Amino acid sequence: MDKNEKVNELARRRGFLWPAFELYGGAAGFFDYGPLGAPLKRRIEDIWRQFFVIQEGFAEIEAPTIGVEGIYQASGHLSGFSDPLTSCKECKEIYRADHLIKHIVEVPDALTNEEIYRTIQENEIGCPECGGELSTVYEFNLMFKTMIGPGNKMTGYLRPETAQGMFINFPRLLRHFRDSLPFAAVQIGKSYRNEISPRQGVIRLREFTQAEAEIFIDPRDKTHPRFAEIKEIKMKFYSQAAQETGTEEEMTFGEAVERGVVAHQMLAYYVARTYQFLLAVGVSPDKMRFRQHKADEMAHYAADCWDAEVFLDRLGWIEIVGVADRTDFDLKAHAATSKVNLSVFVHYDRPKKRQKIVVKPDFKALGPRFKGKAKAVAEALKALPPEKLQGDKITVLVDGESIEIEPSLVSCETVEEEVRGEEIIPHVIEPSFGIDRILYTVLDHSYYEDAVDGETRAVLRFKPAVAPIEVAVLPLMDREELIVPAKKILEELRIRGLRVDWDTSGSIGRRYRRNDEVGTPYEVTVDYETLELGTVTIRDRDSMQQVRVAIEEVADTLQSLLSGKVKFLEAGTLVVPAKEK
Ligand code: AMP
Repeated sequence: MDKNEKVNELARRRGFLWPAFELYGGAAGFFDYGPLGAPLKRRIEDIWRQFFVIQEGFAEIEAPTIGVEGIYQASGHLSGFSDPLTSCKECKEIYRADHLIKHIVEVPDALTNEEIYRTIQENEIGCPECGGELSTVYEFNLMFKTMIGPGNKMTGYLRPETAQGMFINFPRLLRHFRDSLPFAAVQIGKSYRNEISPRQGVIRLREFTQAEAEIFIDPRDKTHPRFAEIKEIKMKFYSQAAQETGTEEEMTFGEAVERGVVAHQMLAYYVARTYQFLLAVGVSPDKMRFRQHKADEMAHYAADCWDAEVFLDRLGWIEIVGVADRTDFDLKAHAATSKVNLSVFVHYDRPKKRQKIVVKPDFKALGPRFKGKAKAVAEALKALPPEKLQGDKITVLVDGESIEIEPSLVSCETVEEEVRGEEIIPHVIEPSFGIDRILYTVLDHSYYEDAVDGETRAVLRFKPAVAPIEVAVLPLMDREELIVPAKKILEELRIRGLRVDWDTSGSIGRRYRRNDEVGTPYEVTVDYETLELGTVTIRDRDSMQQVRVAIEEVADTLQSLLSGKVKFLEAGTLVVPAKEK
């Protein structure tokens, strides 16, 4: 078994991830989160909330997962959210055409269907199953379609991303934020894509969870007020230029913006926050990089786009987050389709003075000359741009009639006016997280096999902040005299809000291994010394060291350990760690 198989097997056996609908034969691209998977996922989402809702002050909303057609007409999903397919003329198996040429073309996304088909032909690629001839390449829309209500009157689509919920609520969100930029809204929720051949566990699902933020900013200012806080952080940037040589470049965010590697501070700030979040949930920095989209891969409207990529065994580099500057594309598209003005009036710090040319018709002369039409002629003259007032004759159109007027009947005057602000369409920075992929990465990057006493110990080195079980309480033996005090400890820990498990079955060694395997950071063992001295042991998953503490102190000690206030140093010693930078 390779690591990928081991992690998947563990996830299935221990209740993290179960293939869905097994009782009825299953369906590819759907997974259940079991009793350990669901809390792991929830804790990852809660850390995301901590970062983006609490610390950034973004507003969390919850929109329906079914959307009406207009949304996806505007967003481009109806016309463009499709994958290129090809089918075998012999066995009728269907394939992602671009995937079949991945080993030949580095970015197959950039090719047209005709170009993909040509590549297939030129390289004599046949059906991977039976070797048969492949068909021309055609498009398949990835949205699940449904009907809203009876009578086929209204078409609905399961949302392919959560982002649109924020865009179409833009006017209400703007009001919520008291009509001023910047502001941001987020959603964590299900998205649906009818993927062609989802075969990589939770990496490619048909129903998956996204956490997306839409940050609406003033396009004239792409600096970030908190940039100084992340400026010194070092990270691996795999820029367009670096991809030419195939090696990532490590540098600080300050340097990345200064050198123009990342387009601007605003984008760099959210790439940095994404990096910090991924570290906080347990993605390994050694197996993570941020890759810039290549020019031909970037959406035509995007100013810059960076994907967080992680290295996973067997699968290679996989995108788990995308952070993009989407400019004003989405709001402009929704404004055009919905016919609702989605601009914002932004006030200048101080009103600006502006020179303006005002056209002044000579009313005294126009009256006798045009009688009942004089007023309309005057209005038409006032509406003319100053350049149209040059020449021997001025022509205006009144009620469809072209009227000529001598220039002497009009004069121009330059006046100064005060302008308080202007209408703009905000730009959008979008960090888009795939929670399932992040969760799988956390499993993969936490998985270790240690040699212990001639045996192999499988361990998930989860960060305590994501561990589905924080503490296991283990009576040394399944005997009344040990069970009673152990149950008391269990109750106290639960009252304190810790995620605690109780296990009495099998030898203590087996129980330690079982907990190591599901990433429980600490175990409390109640033994015969507990009865004599009133102490219990706390065992550390990673070092396998133990300390003895008094029963009264066990809850406080565990909370200090879980929050990182104290750490295990060596057998019997807990230390307060030096402050990390
Ligand atoms: P996208 O809108 O395609 O840029 O997707 C945003 C994020 O959602 C990606 O970075 C992935 O982490 C995640 N994602 C996209 N498609 C899937 C899928 N079929 N299954 C699981 N996660 C996905």
